[in-house]
Amino acid sequence: MSASASHGPAGRIRIVLVGTQHPGNIGAAARAMKTMGLSRLVLVAPEKPLDEAAYRRSAGAEDVLGQAPVLATLAEAVADCRLVLGCTARSRRVRLEELEPSAAAGRLLDLAAEGPVALVFGRERTGLTNEELQLCHASVHIASDPEFSSLNLAAAVQVLAYEVRRALLGAAPAQAPSPRSDEQPATHEQVEGFFAQLADTLDAIDFHKGRAPDSAMRKLRRLFLRTDLTVHEVRLLRGVLADAQRMARLAREAGNAHPPLSP
Ligand code: SAH
Repeated sequence: MSASASHGPAGRIRIVLVGTQHPGNIGAAARAMKTMGLSRLVLVAPEKPLDEAAYRRSAGAEDVLGQAPVLATLAEAVADCRLVLGCTARSRRVRLEELEPSAAAGRLLDLAAEGPVALVFGRERTGLTNEELQLCHASVHIASDPEFSSLNLAAAVQVLAYEVRRALLGAAPAQAPSPRSDEQPATHEQVEGFFAQLADTLDAIDFHKGRAPDSAMRKLRRLFLRTDLTVHEVRLLRGVLADAQRMARLAREAGNAHPPLSP
């Protein structure tokens, strides 16, 4: 198979660089991608615009640089993605499933048959924030020396791009899936819409009772991100939440109409 840059599954694999500090690293990442047949680069809030160093270090991958959109947030960059994997040099407090690069590449390729997928890379100095990692379905770690675990950004892109290439070359031709439209997997944006309504509902039914809401939401997010929710399942869950919110409202109104008798 040709595994060319813009067609087939390779064309649905997005490399997202978040908050990059050195434009030269963006150029080197574009080069790393192009050598492996990838071309979909997305930049999220880079610290500086692309400059001469970026183009020099792209060493012929100017086309990849030139077509890279620049977006303000990671959420926008992955809104339509079927799978989002965040690359981290070290484990964080946010406990996500951790994949090694070849497993990550395999999973990306499987799901690229269904829609866009993203591999996300963080800032040179500080990596990805915990909030950004929470937008990811799983993390990817390149086994490195724990005492010196952080690869150069473009080197990390190269390792993952190579694994994607190997997976592509080894993969059987993708079967076109044709499930009913509501049995399609939900997009990232649809699942985030469900999470927002879940958070509102937990407030409305006074679930937290004074405890910090973050911890429960983090666990619930992890639970639902582990499953492959379909469009229909998201609709069903949101229907359940809407009813819970309606019952909470009725209970509140009834409470207001009949204030408790004083002892
Ligand atoms: N000091 C930062 C390292 C940033 S290196 C930190 O501790 O997070 C820039 C980016 O390259 C990281 O955000 C990550 O996306 C990627 N990267 C570097 N080393 C990596 C490794 N060993 N495994 C996976 N990704 C890595």
